Amino acid sequence: MENREERAIGVIGGSGIYRLEGLEGRREIHLETPFGKPSDVFVEGWVGQRRCVFLARHGRYHSILPHEINYRANIWGMKKLGVEFLISVSAVGSMREEICPGDLVFPDQLFDRTRQRPSSFFGEGVVAHVSFGDPFCMDLLELLYRKALELGYRSHRGGTYLCIEGPQFSTKAESRIYRQWGVDVIGMTNLQEAKLAREAEICMATVALVTDYDCWHQEEGEVNVESVLEVMRANVEKAQRLILEVVGEISGERSCGCGRSLDGAIMTPREAIPAQTYQRLSLLIEKYFQNSQESLGE
Ligand SMILES: [Zn+2]
Repeated sequence: MENREERAIGVIGGSGIYRLEGLEGRREIHLETPFGKPSDVFVEGWVGQRRCVFLARHGRYHSILPHEINYRANIWGMKKLGVEFLISVSAVGSMREEICPGDLVFPDQLFDRTRQRPSSFFGEGVVAHVSFGDPFCMDLLELLYRKALELGYRSHRGGTYLCIEGPQFSTKAESRIYRQWGVDVIGMTNLQEAKLAREAEICMATVALVTDYDCWHQEEGEVNVESVLEVMRANVEKAQRLILEVVGEISGERSCGCGRSLDGAIMTPREAIPAQTYQRLSLLIEKYFQNSQESLGE
């Protein structure tokens, strides 16, 4: 894998986005990871001078439920393929009147209502606690938001994404309570991706495509898959265009802290980490245990 350590931009496509348009020199990469199989093959290609890696979150035939997704394998694969910036495209419901179906939201906060999903690469003899107060990369978020405005898309900068377990949509009681909590959009997938991207020191931001008003809205009635998919199809074109524009603008060294998020986060001393665990996580942690100056500096 040595030849693919160069930096890349990753895109995870959610409902409606099973392929990234505009990629040149497309090729499929099959990966096994220490955490098992990713959702599908990774599709590598080029947008101008930038290498991109695309993955269909639910598989290309949309056959994997939100709680069945192997988030660790997906993010690990991105890391392995040299991804530094990850754009997560996700269909969401709106929890606010002013966030309309067809709008784009770039959330800056997350609220966890998932259960029993593996959410960390660590464990089995190695403990790490990364900061998660700001769960997304604000630099990438700003870039996405600015580009979306330039393209004339109705967009919202910031907001709280509430991640539910699913696969069912919420009850009305839940939806009303979530609104009282002050959340802005609701989805089923972004929480684990953001946590794992932070542990993998990848800059991540979400493009949340609003498909519906969830079930709290009087005009909405029950959320049903058919109406959600219809708006989704209209949103997909926007997302595709936005990604191509943004990819062209990402360049240079990262000035955010995402690339050093494990610095000081690993609590277990090197000598106490079981050999097998160390080996498995070396892609993430090795640079913090090398003795040379440049590995500690950067
Ligand atoms: Zn960042």
